[in-house]
Amino acid sequence: MSRLWIVGLGPGDRRLRTAEAEAVLAQATDLVGYGPYVARVEAPAHVVRHISDNREELARAAHALTLAAAGRRVAVVSSGDAGVFAMASAVFEAMEAGDPAWRALDVQVVPGVSAVLAAAARVGAPLGGDFCVISLSDNLKPWPVILRRLRAAAEAGFVLALYNPVSAARPWQLGEALALLRDLLPGSVPVLFATAVSRPEERIRLATLAEADPADADMRTILLVGSALTRTIERPDGAPWLYTRRSVPPG
Ligand code: SAH
Repeated sequence: MSRLWIVGLGPGDRRLRTAEAEAVLAQATDLVGYGPYVARVEAPAHVVRHISDNREELARAAHALTLAAAGRRVAVVSSGDAGVFAMASAVFEAMEAGDPAWRALDVQVVPGVSAVLAAAARVGAPLGGDFCVISLSDNLKPWPVILRRLRAAAEAGFVLALYNPVSAARPWQLGEALALLRDLLPGSVPVLFATAVSRPEERIRLATLAEADPADADMRTILLVGSALTRTIERPDGAPWLYTRRSVPPG
């Protein structure tokens, strides 16, 4: 019977992939996704790999729906969680606009460990209070909207997780975002640069907002910007712990 699974592969390390993700991947006849993510999935030779460029999400989603409608068992794969700045929305957007028969398909979204959770776990508990997740990519939304959301979230006291901080085509956005945050928050607020978390090339850097350097980020980096309630605990050896208090003072 045809199926369409939309699967989050986790941040990198296979041990951070859920058992449910492994189980559905083992049943797929077709894997659809951005090349490096499809390459992460081990599968027998008869499984067909449909690889596409990262900017072709809607066409890729329509292709996956077409394959499933033709009776294939299709897994659309994304890194982290497929619903967080990834393929799941594209599949539903294609479904809404496409062949009405696609709505009858057996579709299942399989959650994954998103980068924000993997990065937070490396340094302690920075997401213990309310937090806000924002993508700095202006490929799909205007830059002024991103600045407006950053400002609102910082003023409201959220810890911020910033996905997609830089790419070759978007070299200046992170610098501008940090400059805005410096106007709104104390310079002592901790800023975590977590790159390629759980992969062999993992790099974790902790700075203050005053010193945070955009050059510490690349396409594989997520930033966590603390709030006034985020604390650091120095340790005799090794990097400090970071946590955000759950109790918020009145006022
Ligand atoms: N669906 C993914 C996010 C895709 S957007 C998820 O839930 O994690 C791509 C962005 O995710 C990257 O620019 C980076 O900000 C972040 N990212 C993905 N994997 C990462 C990892 N292993 N370490 C740090 N950040 C990561």
